[in-house]
Amino acid sequence: MRFEGRRVVVVGGGIGGLAVALACRQRGAEVLVLEQAQAIEEVGAGIQISPNGLRVLDALGLGQGLRDRACIASAVSLRDHSGGAEVLRLDLSRLAEAGTYHFVHRADLIDLLVEAVRASGAQIRLLQRVVAVRPGAPAQIDLANGDRCGGDLVIGADGLHSAVRGALNGAVAPVFTRQVAWRAVVPNLASHPPEARVHMGPGRHLVSYPLRGGAQINLVAVEERSDWVAESWSHLDAPEPMRSAFQDFAPDVQALLGAVERPGLWGLFRHPVARVWQGEGVALLGDAAHPTLPFMAQGANMALEDAWALAACLERDPQPQALVRYQHLRRDRCARIVATADGNAWKYHLKNPLIRSAAHLAMGVLGRVAPARMLAQFDWIYRYDVTAEA
Ligand SMILES: Cc1cc2nc3c(=O)[nH]c(=O)nc-3n(C[C@H](O)[C@H](O)[C@H](O)COP(=O)(O)OP(=O)(O)OC[C@H]3O[C@@H](n4cnc5c(N)ncnc54)[C@H](O)[C@@H]3O)c2cc1C
Repeated sequence: MRFEGRRVVVVGGGIGGLAVALACRQRGAEVLVLEQAQAIEEVGAGIQISPNGLRVLDALGLGQGLRDRACIASAVSLRDHSGGAEVLRLDLSRLAEAGTYHFVHRADLIDLLVEAVRASGAQIRLLQRVVAVRPGAPAQIDLANGDRCGGDLVIGADGLHSAVRGALNGAVAPVFTRQVAWRAVVPNLASHPPEARVHMGPGRHLVSYPLRGGAQINLVAVEERSDWVAESWSHLDAPEPMRSAFQDFAPDVQALLGAVERPGLWGLFRHPVARVWQGEGVALLGDAAHPTLPFMAQGANMALEDAWALAACLERDPQPQALVRYQHLRRDRCARIVATADGNAWKYHLKNPLIRSAAHLAMGVLGRVAPARMLAQFDWIYRYDVTAEA
């Protein structure tokens, strides 16, 4: 599709929606973002932007803005939960392009994107909840307030509970993984270095990394449990259950947990990757297409890659072929990342102390004798350059 004079409507003003709005606007489309919330804002939490996501921000002209707001990650340090001894260290300076893995506050990334989208001339309309989408030429949108609108292309970037995915794929019930995640940001009381620490315990793990020049620490703490919790950050918890779930973790973890006030609590669900990503005049991206468990820290990075790929495919080909090519380029890669994240939790949560010790010992030995190999297992994720591929 030629972008000039074409109207693109993006449903959802999250990381994926804002990135695709900018990518389409930069190519000349008339862009409207419909967001259900009354303000575009993010939960107080951090996010890891890996080199594959950064390449997209660079291509959008936002790489420096991200670097100005983020901390460069030096390593991932896997640790035993109780004593806190390091089991394995992945030195991120060994990545092909050192200094390209970042930790950033989600609100800072969203602000950067919103500013760029507004400056580009794209429109963002708030309090616009989309209730139905009908593929067609033009595709049609129904809003909860009774309004209707349409566009040459409607992009469903409406996250986990996507209405647009439903229109293309029907309803699919997610499966509770029997894991919950608490999320909190606390002051950096423990002189936490610029690395992601993963403390691994039986049935639980806790990830911490710094934000905002090291002034704050982002905490994500995952626990296996049988009772169901909703899949939404709007559910806040008291600090005590989080502290008590991790009370036998190392003293530096206790110091961080002591500073938690009102953590968000999120039930972790497995959703299938959408089978159909596109229809006449409609496409999906981000969590709407491929919700993922957080164990590879790739959800937002995939959404950024999707955004670039979709705009680049539309620039190259007329619409039906462009959307088919987009799904073809993206679906297998995203499904592989989602499957890798699905398979990761058990490695952190080994319950049998003998098996855990043996596994940690093996990891440590491998990390010492073949550090480059340990990191190279993620090359297919981090070295991927969607801006070259698409
Ligand atoms: C604990 C945890 C940690 C994570 N850490 C990382 C990480 O370190 N790195 C990483 O890459 N990813 C991470 N992720 C995943 C990442 O947060 C998501 O994959 C990413 O935010 C998805 O972006 P999105 O734009 O697709 O969807 P969202 O961010 O969910 O945005 C969707 C937007 O659409 C709006 N919307 C929804 N429905 C409608 C509607 N009907 N009408 C209008 N608007 C609507 C919503 O209000 C929202 O603004 C993590 C996730 C979790 C749970």
